[in-house]
Amino acid sequence: MESTTLRAFKYRLYPTKAQIASLDTTLTLCQRLYNGMLEERRGAYQKAGKSLTAYDQMKSLPEVKAALPEYAGVNAQVLQDVAKRLDKSFKGFFRRVKAGQKAGYPRFRSRDRYDSFTYPQPRQNSVSGNGKHVYLPKIGNVRIKLHRPFSGKLKTLAVKREGQEWYAVLTCEIPRPAPLPQTGNAVGIDLGVRHLIVTSDGDFEDNPRPLRTAQKRLRVLQRSLSRKKRGSKRRHKARQAVAKLHLKVKRQRDDLHHKAAVKLVRENDWIAHENLSITGLARTRMARSVLDAGWGSLIEKLISKAEEAGRTVIGINPAYTSQDCHLCGHREKHSLSVREFTCKGCGAFLNRDVNAAKNILAWSMPSWTQGGSVERACPEKPRSSELG
Ligand SMILES: [Zn+2]
Repeated sequence: MESTTLRAFKYRLYPTKAQIASLDTTLTLCQRLYNGMLEERRGAYQKAGKSLTAYDQMKSLPEVKAALPEYAGVNAQVLQDVAKRLDKSFKGFFRRVKAGQKAGYPRFRSRDRYDSFTYPQPRQNSVSGNGKHVYLPKIGNVRIKLHRPFSGKLKTLAVKREGQEWYAVLTCEIPRPAPLPQTGNAVGIDLGVRHLIVTSDGDFEDNPRPLRTAQKRLRVLQRSLSRKKRGSKRRHKARQAVAKLHLKVKRQRDDLHHKAAVKLVRENDWIAHENLSITGLARTRMARSVLDAGWGSLIEKLISKAEEAGRTVIGINPAYTSQDCHLCGHREKHSLSVREFTCKGCGAFLNRDVNAAKNILAWSMPSWTQGGSVERACPEKPRSSELG
């Protein structure tokens, strides 16, 4: 295992009016460059069947600057990073195509969808000695609030706009923390809407009320926004309100996911979940709710925390997790509205989601072969010695 790891530290910025103007301009220019480079890649491919690389596009940056003098006001490395970002989304696209997943060709980004730029090689002393300012080349010394200290070698420095607020994200290389001591526990988790998480141990993690209320209100605001006339002042206002609430919902959800992930990683050596990238899951349940619950972001957090702690997170095929009895393997389709799982095979009676979580755990075990009746009848909880 590598001896270092990356950690991101995020801080609020308090730019002056003039600095806000240059931050905004930088973002806009990066967004246009991104779209321009995307166009260029498409064109090169359509006309000549040629695939451009990030390196090709970086080489043409001096020409861009010569033709469009406003780009001289943006740090050269920030512009290079735009090419790298585009390259990343193309690599992701090709990877998904290869894996046979829904691919999604890289898209043009609107101003709202392009909200950050990155200094890929910032100075180590970018944050001033007294911790009150951060130096952003071509923009200046911007006031920063270090609400907690950061440590390690500064690798990248990103500036992010969230609604009306600005943030700096410092990605630092830190020594890898020692793995957490083994607990001997393994757990399966079922992700849901009413309960964010139901575990194979029978624990229920609620989707808290404030978050649900805010989500409901967000939907109301979005509907009202869609009725406002394009280009009107009221539409602009409504849009800002939506953006602000959206941010609030995201923060509450991130916080919830963070806490849930930390708890799972602290208490278990082995965590099994349903693999969300397997298409069809979103369709079998309500797609809307899947988006609201943001399971993907929870799993991401879980994986990164587990990596640091030396734990295992494993995704399993979600098929039949809620139809099969975890004790005898009897398969039967139950209505989604029925909360209890009653097995006609062996008479097992328990919460539907707990049954699913128990299946998820059992099927994640290396010794498990689906369809093998011996294992299927085994008690659900593995011994720690099997976790190896
Ligand atoms: Zn049964």
